[in-house]
Amino acid sequence: MTAKQSSLLEQADARESLIEATEVHKTYDTGKLTVQALKGVSLHIQRGEIVAIMGPSGCGKTTLLNCLSGLDSVSSGIVQIAGQDIRGFSDRELTAFRAHEMGFVFQTYNLLPVLTGLENVELPLLVSGVSSREARVRARASIERVGLLDWARHRPAEMSGGQRQRFAIARALATMPSIVWADEPTGALDSTTSQEIIDLMLDLNREHGLTFVWVTHAMEVARQAHRLVTMRDGLIENDRSFKAETSVPLAMETPPLSSRGQESRQSYD
Ligand code: ADP
Ligand code: MG
Repeated sequence: MTAKQSSLLEQADARESLIEATEVHKTYDTGKLTVQALKGVSLHIQRGEIVAIMGPSGCGKTTLLNCLSGLDSVSSGIVQIAGQDIRGFSDRELTAFRAHEMGFVFQTYNLLPVLTGLENVELPLLVSGVSSREARVRARASIERVGLLDWARHRPAEMSGGQRQRFAIARALATMPSIVWADEPTGALDSTTSQEIIDLMLDLNREHGLTFVWVTHAMEVARQAHRLVTMRDGLIENDRSFKAETSVPLAMETPPLSSRGQESRQSYD
């Protein structure tokens, strides 16, 4: 990581927005057809938040994730990450920044079939320049966090959907990012497995302050986020924070007294 990148992260304290998008427009021009996928989206995401994004197919959810994470460039508007306009990064700096600071989870897991679970998790570490020895140690720690060390030597084809998604989450966590972007993370899972994956992400948020953005079609998933942003036709239609009593999942309804005040301050401001 360069000095610029690490100082950039130090600037972002708990009260600062991790992601600030202002009037973001994105137009795809395919030659024949011009699609205005984002028509002026402004969105701030605080460190430690879980934001759910919902909306009909084609309304621009994936485009928004790609633009906010710097995977794709915007047509106009500003995207700031940790207070820094990403247009100030070179392509190389942005790629390195994403590799260190962002994790990605997809509906179809996107694990490489020829690699074992462990090797899949090691990959982003190796790509970001970590030694192979260190990558192994950190990948195992990450797999332990999702509870699947026994499956580390298996290939994705031998695993259930839920296990694959856990490995994908372990891969997203391996570089210890600030934010994980999850595009339909439970879209291919049955409801029980889906809830296990959501519980895992909720735990990671509580224990490590990890910020999550979940694109989802499922209200039972979205209601467990701290905040729900709904999109329609390239615009944000509604953006609301949940009150503690509606967003706290059943298992959390009676936290120990000592943690209650802290819990509500952290999550629902
Ligand atoms: P969602 O994720 O909400 O289903 P998308 O962000 O994928 O929506 O797409 C928003 C709009 O942009 C759609 O009309 C889609 O067809 C269009 N679009 C998305 N990606 C591209 C692309 N690479 N080239 C052209 N059009 C695209
Ligand atoms: Mg999409």
